[in-house]
Amino acid sequence: MTFRAVLFDLDNTLCDVVSARVRYAVHAARAAGIQLDAAGLRHAAEEGTETVTSLLKHEQVRRAAWRTMPSHDIACHVEFSQAARSVVERIGSQAQVGIVSNGRSRTQMVKLRQALGDVALWPIVISGQVGVRKPARRIFDHALALLGMPADEVLFVGDDPLEDMLGAARVGMRACWISHGRSPEQLTCAVDYVIEAIDELPEAIHA
Ligand SMILES: [Mg+2]
Repeated sequence: MTFRAVLFDLDNTLCDVVSARVRYAVHAARAAGIQLDAAGLRHAAEEGTETVTSLLKHEQVRRAAWRTMPSHDIACHVEFSQAARSVVERIGSQAQVGIVSNGRSRTQMVKLRQALGDVALWPIVISGQVGVRKPARRIFDHALALLGMPADEVLFVGDDPLEDMLGAARVGMRACWISHGRSPEQLTCAVDYVIEAIDELPEAIHA
């Protein structure tokens, strides 16, 4: 492996946040005695957190969810991923491994802990903490400064064509796109690797 560091996106790269949104909505709807359409829910979960919560727009649902759930936070519905954990550990034995993620600091740290358990990652750069979001150059430059490495020795792994791939490529990092089966036509920049799922990463980069 030629990389001194591998930086990962978090949502839908190391943790399955789409499934967490579905579990959250199912739980909240059940608590309120409401039936959600499964296909519509999956579609909403892929759209984002706000679309899911808009399905649960009745105050009755929100109150019921609040009473019955251990936490109102979708982050708590992220499940442990042995695949992600194994990849991070395997690559971490040969290179520095860290995170660059968009979101609120507390929320992203909960997701990270839920998905990977206790694992050594550094740096962990979260937009809510540093005040700038991907794909802005500044958040990638901040991570590089912490690493103290030139951009071309760092691989960025993520699922978002714009926030992750374009953002990382613009600062000169190498880039690996997790397609989740989507067409490469969604990419707006050249990337070094395309894989369908996180467990293909070590083989793709020969770690
Ligand atoms: Mg993502």
